[in-house]
Amino acid sequence: RVAGRRPLIAGNWKMNIDHLHAIALVQKVAWTLKDAGHDFDDVEVAVFPPFTDLRSVQSLVAADHLHIRYGAQDLSTHDEGAYTGEISGAFLARLDCDYVIVGHSERRAYHHEDDAVVAAKAQAALRHGLVPVICVGETAEDLEQQGPAAVPVAQLAAVLDGIADRLGDEAAEIVVAYEPVWAIGSGHAATPGQAQQVIGRLRETIAERLAGPLGADRADRLADATRILYGGSVAVGNVAGFLAEPDIDGALVGGASLDARSFADIARFR
Ligand code: PGA
Repeated sequence: RVAGRRPLIAGNWKMNIDHLHAIALVQKVAWTLKDAGHDFDDVEVAVFPPFTDLRSVQSLVAADHLHIRYGAQDLSTHDEGAYTGEISGAFLARLDCDYVIVGHSERRAYHHEDDAVVAAKAQAALRHGLVPVICVGETAEDLEQQGPAAVPVAQLAAVLDGIADRLGDEAAEIVVAYEPVWAIGSGHAATPGQAQQVIGRLRETIAERLAGPLGADRADRLADATRILYGGSVAVGNVAGFLAEPDIDGALVGGASLDARSFADIARFR
């Protein structure tokens, strides 16, 4: 793996864990890792709680000087105004979020978010200094009809087109998560080889798609520097296999991130 790509183990809590339980879970993850001598500079650990938990997580992380990073699971395409029920990236930045997930397959499926909406959300994230964790992945039907890479590559290309102008800035950063929809919550993860094949294509897509707007040099550097995670039924028993692949830089963990011990063990995959 390229030296600059520090592995990231990210826990997507989805709509689980209220703010009271969030404190206990983050504390337990942090203490378990600390007791195990975890080097947070070696493997970064982040959690993605529900919106209503973020203020509590912020207070805990600040008060106890925890090395756990955090972000939200979604944000608005708008910055402020008459958008009932929406949450602005500006508010997330004020809560010291580092990250925000955009384009999770559950939002694409249940909230009809298309590639244009996901691109606008990634734009909004970058506008507020948040790193968008851009999720892409094919359904079982896509896999059967188009093979594994076509849909995730098209989804990523659409987002890259929408944010290319912001990526010209050397400091701008994105994270990509390849999450085959058929692997999410199913207990049937992709194999490391399958995931590497698609993730390798996603990395090439960054270089190819951004070469026009940013120039080949900047596009190549960005493709090399971007962390690409695998997600979908990641567990203690399979995480190391994914991280052993040359292009896989971490994991987006759903179910197994709700248990402190499991999530800490996943972060200690080495
Ligand atoms: P899972 O979810 O680990 O429970 O499969 C992953 C995700 O949806 O991010």
